[in-house]
Parts: sequence; structure tokens; C-alpha cells
Amino acid sequence: MASSNGIPTTGKGLIVSFGEMLIDFVPTASGVSLAEAPGFLKAPGGAPANVAIAITRLGGKSAFVGKLGDDEFGHMLAGILKENDVKTDGITFDEGARTALAFVTLRADGEREFMFYRNPSADMLLKPEELNLELIRSAKVFHYGSISLIVEPCRSAHLKALEVAKEAGCLLSYDPNLRLPLWPSADEARKQILSIWEKADLIKVSDNELEFLTGSDKIDDETALTLWHPNLKLLLVTLGEHGAKYYTKNFRGTVEAFHVNTVDTTGAGDSFVGALLAKIVDDQSILEDEPRLRAVLKFANACGAITTTKKGAIPALPKEEDALKLLNA
Ligand code: ADP
Repeated sequence: MASSNGIPTTGKGLIVSFGEMLIDFVPTASGVSLAEAPGFLKAPGGAPANVAIAITRLGGKSAFVGKLGDDEFGHMLAGILKENDVKTDGITFDEGARTALAFVTLRADGEREFMFYRNPSADMLLKPEELNLELIRSAKVFHYGSISLIVEPCRSAHLKALEVAKEAGCLLSYDPNLRLPLWPSADEARKQILSIWEKADLIKVSDNELEFLTGSDKIDDETALTLWHPNLKLLLVTLGEHGAKYYTKNFRGTVEAFHVNTVDTTGAGDSFVGALLAKIVDDQSILEDEPRLRAVLKFANACGAITTTKKGAIPALPKEEDALKLLNA
């Protein structure tokens, strides 16, 4: 089914998003180092949780699977998912470890500075036997990143969830979401991110991740296609304000971005992925039909663009009508 402007209606099939949810602490003043910051504001985040909310905000159905601390912040985050209609029956709470925190600032020199509290944090302690396998099996799409691959036992839980989702026939969607400071080394990050590459049906990387994973400084088709694998249905390279490139077995192209008043790009990629998944979950034949895929990617670009117009990720994720307004402007 498509609405009048060629954008498919949001699907009702379940999308399970697996991984971390945490609190970003962002300085109340801009352009300062963490040490200079006069105070911090809490901003809920974690790419897989952002994707889950991006989907429900568009009217889709999603569940988040991961572990939080059995503390005030963990219950606050689960409450935010619930308020946003994300199913929470795949969440477990760790009684020993705290919910992850990340202090993050954009310094005056434009460099992003991070300080993580994960020593270890609850998300890292998810065990394979704690997974809600029934929930994962009931999904049409299983979405994940790579932060959950960094340490055990979460890494084994991630691999088990992937295996169960694949067996159940879910479409597997992978956004590596590179966070280099969390890995023991760049080589290890590259190796582990690529270790699950060929399982995915759909992969989204940013231009920076393309450079990192390929070791090339060229953002061109030839470089992108070195990341192609034979079972892949769709490879996406997002280019921030330059839109997104798409590659399938039979066609490839670029979809331009929208010009907006950008204030904070946090969550743009998660909004883009959430929008794409919400639009294809009930009709995966869109992935093989270039005109319909382009319409969906245009919609996803509109969602990504809107997310940059407000501070923070979750508060800035658009509703369907906001995205359609930008598309039709
Ligand atoms: P990530 O957040 O994963 O790094 P990007 O920054 O490439 O991903 O953003 C994902 C999508 O969001 C882009 O493909 C684009 O459509 C949209 N987007 C991101 N930044 C901007 C921007 N400054 N202006 C307009 N659209 C943007």
C-alpha cells in the first residue's frame, strides 16, 4: 500500500532492535571541554534504542532488547521506551552493574570528547540465557550495531540473538555505529565489526565508517562495493548533508538530502535507519524495486534531516506528518 505521494504506509510488523541504551551527559554550555563544563544535562541515547523509538514515532511497532542497571537511571530509560510505545519485555535489569553513562562534548576546536562509565556497565553483562527468544522469533526485522560485540558475555548474547533471528527468517539489519574509544584497538574494532558482516541482509554505514572499514580515503562506488557480500540485499552509505548512496545487486544511486537548519546531528543516522525499516517491514520487495526504494530513502533522508534540527536524538525524532511536510515543501 502506498500513500498518494508514493511513500509506503508504515508497516505493522515487529522490528526488534538489539543493543545498548544509555544516558549521554551533555554540557549545558557549548564549545567547552568536559573539565570546563559548568554542568551537564541528561540525554537518553544508544543507537539501537534511538532506532526503536524512531520506528514507533512513525507509527510502527518495535521492541528493544538489552540490559539496563537495576537503578534509577535504568528504570528511567525503560520508562522512556514505554512512553514511546516501544515493547520492553526484552529488557533485563542487572542488580550488580550500573546503567552506562557517557559524558560527551563538542570542544571549541570541533573535536568530540567522550568519557564513558562502563567498568562494566549493565548492557555489557547481558547473557545469552537472558534473551527473550520468543520475542526475537516474532520479529520481521532484527536490527543491531557493533558495540554489543566488544566484550563478553554480551558478545555471545549478540551472536545468539543473531542466530535465532536468522533461523526465524527475520531480515537482519546492521548499522555498525563505530565508537572507536570503546574498542581495545582500531584493528580489533575493524576485525570484529567485519566478523558478522556476511550475516546481514541490509547494512548501513556512514562515510566515516566506510573510510575506516576499507582503509580508503575515497568515498566512491568502487570503495563502497568492496563492502558488498553475496547475500546482501541493500548497502547504504549515508553522507550527512549530502544524502545517501544505495547499492543493490541490480541497481545503485544517490538520494539527495534536504536543506534544513541543523543544530545537532546526534541521532540522524538512527532516524534514517528507523524510517527505512518502518517502511519496508511489511513489504520487503521494496528492496528490489528502485523507484519504490528511492521514495523510501527520500522519506528516510527527510527523517534524518529533521532529527538534526533540534538538540538531542530522541526529542528530535519526527512523526510521519513532520516528514511528509518536509517532503512536500
Ligand atoms: P550518522 O548519524 O550515522 O553519521 P549521517 O550523519 O550520514 O549518519 O545522517 C544520516 C542521514 O540523515 C543522512 O543520509 C541525511 O539524509 C540526513 N542528514 C544528516 N545530517 C544532515 C544535515 N546536516 N542536513 C540534512 N540532512 C542530514
